[in-house]
Amino acid sequence: METDPAKIKKLAKEKEYENMEFRLFLKQIDMSPEEVDKVVHRIYREVSSQIDCAACRNCCKELVPALHKEDIERLSKVMGMSVDQFTEQYVEQDEFGDHTFKKPCPLFKDNTCMYPDDRPEACKSYPYLDKEGFVFRTIGVVQNCFVCPIVYNTYERLKGELWHYNFDDYDDLECFDELDEPDELEDLGELEELDIFDILEILNDLYFSGGYNENA
Ligand code: SF4
Ligand code: SF4
Repeated sequence: METDPAKIKKLAKEKEYENMEFRLFLKQIDMSPEEVDKVVHRIYREVSSQIDCAACRNCCKELVPALHKEDIERLSKVMGMSVDQFTEQYVEQDEFGDHTFKKPCPLFKDNTCMYPDDRPEACKSYPYLDKEGFVFRTIGVVQNCFVCPIVYNTYERLKGELWHYNFDDYDDLECFDELDEPDELEDLGELEELDIFDILEILNDLYFSGGYNENA
């Protein structure tokens, strides 16, 4: 199993398109979201038991967590600062208006978290693979394949276990035909400004809303 974050990032780039295809496949799979969750949770437990997060810490290096009000209040108290001081020094808003740490994470020192017991809830939950509703969060999963060896390896094993499932049905899905012909999508907008996630998200939305299927 590959655990080197640098190699994982390269492999995730190579498999980016395939990973997005599998994401679309999961939306059509003949399994309930709960059944998919059971498989994901089992694989996640197997994979995470073989990876040492203390030796990795790539999520702390590459990502910054969302910060909720309670996180900010708790951490500012622990760090002996007022909420205003803490916010001014360490917090910013992302494009969605959510609060995050300024990058790089200010609590990441000497390859570890300065306040592990009081770290944000988002950090405690990462990489979220033990949560319910995996099939509804796959865009984030595919993106996390670039960062987290646990996510990358879990997704690889999940593909290995499920992608043959209903493969005949999968082969017939029109959206996958269209994925091979992205030039035909030019009428959808300025594609040159979109990355693979944007394009596949548009296809996914159109296909599953029936908008992309002339016969739907
Ligand atoms: S708060 Fe701690 S656990 Fe969270 S990203 Fe920063 S260093 Fe890592
Ligand atoms: S959660 Fe993932 S990225 Fe973070 S330390 Fe563990 S293996 Fe590395």
